[in-house]
Formats: sequence, structure tokens, C-alpha cells
Amino acid sequence: MNHISVTLPDGSSRQVPSGSTPGDVAAAISPRLAKAALAAVVDGRLVDLTFPLRQDASVRIVTPESPEALRLYRHSTAHLLAAAVTNLFPGAQCGIGPATEEGFFYDFVVERPFVPEDLDAIEKKMKELASQDLPYERQMWPREDAIRFFGARGEPLKVQLIEEKTAGQPEVSCYTIKDRDTFVDFCVGPHVPSTGRLKAFKLLNASNAYWKGDARNQPMQRISGTAFVSEKELQTHLHRIEEAKKRDHRKLGRELGLFMFHAWAPGAAFWFSKGTTLYNTLANYMREVLFPAGYVEVKSPLIYNKALWERSGHWKHYRQHMFLIESEGETMSLKPMNCPGHFLMYASEVRSYRDLPLRFHEQTPLHRNESSGVLSGLTRVRQFSQDDAHCFVREDQIGEEVERLIRLVQRVYGDFGLPFTAKLSTRPADFLGEVATWDRAETQLKAALDRAGLAYALNEGDGAFYGPKIDCDVTDALGRKWQCATIQLDYEQPQNFDLKYTGADNAEHRPIVIHRAIVGSFERFIAILIEHYAGAFPLWLAPVQVTVLPIADRHLEYAQSVRERLAASGLRAEVDDRQEKIGYKIREAQLQKVPYMLVTGDREASEGTISVRSRTAGDQGARSVDDFVGQALAEIAAKREPEAGLAAAS
Ligand SMILES: [Zn+2]
Ligand SMILES: [Zn+2]
Repeated sequence: MNHISVTLPDGSSRQVPSGSTPGDVAAAISPRLAKAALAAVVDGRLVDLTFPLRQDASVRIVTPESPEALRLYRHSTAHLLAAAVTNLFPGAQCGIGPATEEGFFYDFVVERPFVPEDLDAIEKKMKELASQDLPYERQMWPREDAIRFFGARGEPLKVQLIEEKTAGQPEVSCYTIKDRDTFVDFCVGPHVPSTGRLKAFKLLNASNAYWKGDARNQPMQRISGTAFVSEKELQTHLHRIEEAKKRDHRKLGRELGLFMFHAWAPGAAFWFSKGTTLYNTLANYMREVLFPAGYVEVKSPLIYNKALWERSGHWKHYRQHMFLIESEGETMSLKPMNCPGHFLMYASEVRSYRDLPLRFHEQTPLHRNESSGVLSGLTRVRQFSQDDAHCFVREDQIGEEVERLIRLVQRVYGDFGLPFTAKLSTRPADFLGEVATWDRAETQLKAALDRAGLAYALNEGDGAFYGPKIDCDVTDALGRKWQCATIQLDYEQPQNFDLKYTGADNAEHRPIVIHRAIVGSFERFIAILIEHYAGAFPLWLAPVQVTVLPIADRHLEYAQSVRERLAASGLRAEVDDRQEKIGYKIREAQLQKVPYMLVTGDREASEGTISVRSRTAGDQGARSVDDFVGQALAEIAAKREPEAGLAAAS
């Protein structure tokens, strides 16, 4: 018999008969490995355990602990879902069923939309099929047979998929669960060996979809679900979904009276007083961070002649996202970004090498014509403002400027308790300028990241054609990632706008522009903060920081005097002057997530004190107003709660 040599991850090798499978290899290593095995990576390719090995190969057995396991589970569960649907809904047509970042889905053509009871029944059927531990069997069918088979079964979409994906191949792979009667699907695989391995899955919802995601195509019903390697991970994930629903910024935004939307201003928020306070606090915080870092604040117009956008290239590449306005026969546009305005301001004066870096910061509103279908709360809007800035630098200043920027990013995210990761995107295949210029810039960016002590992922070739960039993703309290900061080098726009500075050599040089934002859109960042903090903002951000609660009407005057003293110290304070019981007022303040409640009754009024209640730590006892103010201001300055609440500090 022919033998082949199999190399294992530890470097050792084994001789096995040709035609052996990774399943055989696992069994030869240990019964335990054979039992845990899900699939295998053969010469770098993920395959089924039943894959026949016909030549010398490197083989790694995939187990539930392997990085490939999760997608394997999820994709296999999608097949299980399709098997259950075709079983319960004869005539249902199957589309595609991939694994996703969060789970899996499968699209179907069915006579009527799925209702929640359907999902319950489907999930029950999936559990039943899983408990029968049916094997996923890979079968190679002659291509024409497969096309005939799916055609006869009334599955034109599968026929289309086979025709598109396997042109020129004599055979196509089909997978059955148990047998052709139970379920058969055209798929390249691989899958877990049998349905019994799938123990932790849950269907989440059904929604409208279209074949290939195109609204001109066949309407379909998408069932989405999730699957994990273990029940514990599944439960953690489901808990997180519930928590995300509770924290939804659109829901909390309404409950906390922060903002609203109206059909007559799609994609633009109406900020109520509390929301405006939150917005301004964030905007002013960014000013406080940026001014000492050498930025100057500017305001540029909102509406420009289209000539500007022709110069910047937006007219050619971005016009469909711009709001156009006609005025006196001229075409104008609301600005979708600040950059071109800043270039005009830069070019308005003769600049010397000693003026650089020059940093323009601007927070005026931007408008982008997003289609109404993608608008969503504060995360996808048409009108927003940014902590936008453009730094004009000399080539030799790139590294230091970027390092300063990274340190600002670290400070800002640190103040919000948001951990983050960075990635550096480098020269793409299609790039502007000289290779040597790019190499120097990328070397400076890497050195800056290293000096700032920031680990980063390298996205080779993923930079924009006009310059390399650094992107940062923050991770919120629920472990979700959001892309926020970008630091983008630009060699193109300084050319378009003929930007110059006079060098020490008295000759003209081109500056480089660094486009950068740290929080990005304030609207979107506020959405992230609302969900990150679940609406319970730290004291420095809370729209109402303190609410004074008089126990009875006779304490109202004293409560007002307390509020005035707090307000004079710069604290945002209100009095709850309603004729309600104190317990009710405390509950209301808790629901509104006000950080501090100051109860004022007979004793407090006569002693000139207040009884402090913290949203998180409860009753803190009585103290003087000055004492409270001092500690509250210290907490605001620190931007986080004292370790054991205010009481411990007094
Ligand atoms: Zn599959
Ligand atoms: Zn810009």
C-alpha cells in the first residue's frame, strides 16, 4: 500500500496509508483528540475530517479550542437551520447560509414571512436533528446531476449558485445531513462531523432580505441566529444582546430627555436642553484638550460654490453625498467636510517653515446626504459636527506630530474609560507620489506608534491612495468595537490647492496635511457614550449633576438657596419642587441617572447642611454644602468616581 508522510504542528511526522483522512490521523494520535476533532487544516486549507489525504501534507486537527472552530460551528448550524426549515416548510427554497461576526443566517424563499412561533418550532426541530447526531456527509456529484437535482426540487437559486460558482468543474460538492431526504445542500464546506456537536445555538429573528442583497431581486426571508462552542459563551452573548437593547441610545435618549428626531428633518437630531448640555460639555472638553496642544479654533462657511468641490475632487467623487443648493444661478453645496475650507484659510497668507505645524480645529456642522434607508439614531445621521482638525506640517515633522496625536487619543479615550486598538494602513497598489516619500512617512508613523507605546496591527496596502493612515477602534463596556479616531496623511490636497511654505532655504515647499479626528462625529460618539455608560454618565458629563430634593414645601426656600450655591460653583443643579413624597423623588432622580441627590428637610435647613445620596453608593450622610461642592469639583476634575464614593474622602 502507498504511504504518505503527514507533518503535525509539533514538527513530528507520521506515515499513513494514502487515502487516510485527518480523522484517521487524529485517532492515531489519541482517542481524546479523535473525539474532540471538528475539522482539519491541511496545507493551510480548512477541510472536513473526512478529507482524503493523497500526498505528503501538513495536518493540524481543529478542535473546539482552535480559532477556526467558531465559524465552523456557526456555518454548520446554518445548515441545521436550513434542514429544519425545509422539513417544516415543504417547498421552501434555500439561498445562502454563511457564518457572520455575530452568528449566522440563512435566506429562504417562503410563501409568507416567518412569525416568532415559526422560529420556536424551527429551533425545536434543529435541537431534534442535533440530538440525532446526524453526520454531515460530503458527496461529490457530477455537476450536471447537481443542477438537474436542484432544478427538479424547485430550487432555481441553488441552480444559479452552482452555475455561477463552479463553471468548468466536472464535479461539485454537496453535503447531506443523514440522507437526501433529510437535507442536501450545495456547499464547498467544511462542516463539523455531525449535528450532535452543535449544542449551543439560538435563533434570534427573521427579517426581510433579497437574493444577493439586491432589492431588484427575489424577496427572501432571513433567519438570523447565533451559535457558540459552549452553552456558557452562548448565554454570555445572549445576555449581552439583552443589555445592548436596554442601553440602546435611541431608547435612553428619549427616556433621559436628551434628543429627538422628526420625520421632517431626517437624519438630524433635535437636542433638548439636557442633550445640548451633554453635547456642549463634550465639545468644550475637546477644546480644553486641544488648545494646550497648540490647536487654534476656526469657523469656515457651511455653503460653498461648486468650484471649491471641483478643486478638491469632491465634485467628481463625492457629489452624490452632498446637499446641493441653487443660488443666483450658481450651484452651491453644504459642506460634507471641513478640509477644503481650511486649505483656503491656509493659502490666504504666506506661510513660513517657522509657522508649522499649523493646526486648525473646527466644530461647525457638516452635512452628508446619506440615503434615508441607512439613517439610524445618532450613529448614522445627515447633520453632525466633529472634533475635526487639519495639521499642516513639514515632512520632517510628521513623526513628532503623529506621536503628539496618539498621545492625545490615549488621553481622551482614557478619560472616557474606553480601551482602544490601533491599526496602521500603508501604501496601496494604486498610490500617489514617490515610493521613497511613502517609505519615509510610514517609517515615521511606525516610530511614532512605538514611542507612544501603542501596539498596532499592520494593514499592508490598505492606505488611501493619497497617504498612509492610523485608525483607532474603541471597545465599549459591552465589548463592542467602534471605529473613532483617524489620523490620515494627505499628499494630494496640498497639490490641488497649491499649498506652500517658505523653507529655511528661502525656497517654496509643499506642506503635508494630516486630517485627524479623535472622537469623530460628536453625534456618533454621544451614542457610543450613552450605550457605554448605559445613560449613567460620570459626574463631569452628566447633564444634571445634582438634584436638590426638598422633603416638604417648607424646605423649598432652603433647597433653592442650596441650588444657587451649587450653580455659583459651576455645578449643574436642579430642584425637584414637585409636591411628591421624598421616596418618589429619589426614585425619579435614580431613573434619570442623576449622580447626586441632596435631601433637604428640617434638620438640614436648621443646621445649614444637606444629606447626600449618590446614584451608585446610596446614602452618604449629612455634610456642609461647601464640603460637598469641594468633593464634587474634585470628582469632576478627576473625571471618574472616587474609589469608595464621596463618604470615604470626607
Ligand atoms: Zn456549508
Ligand atoms: Zn479633512
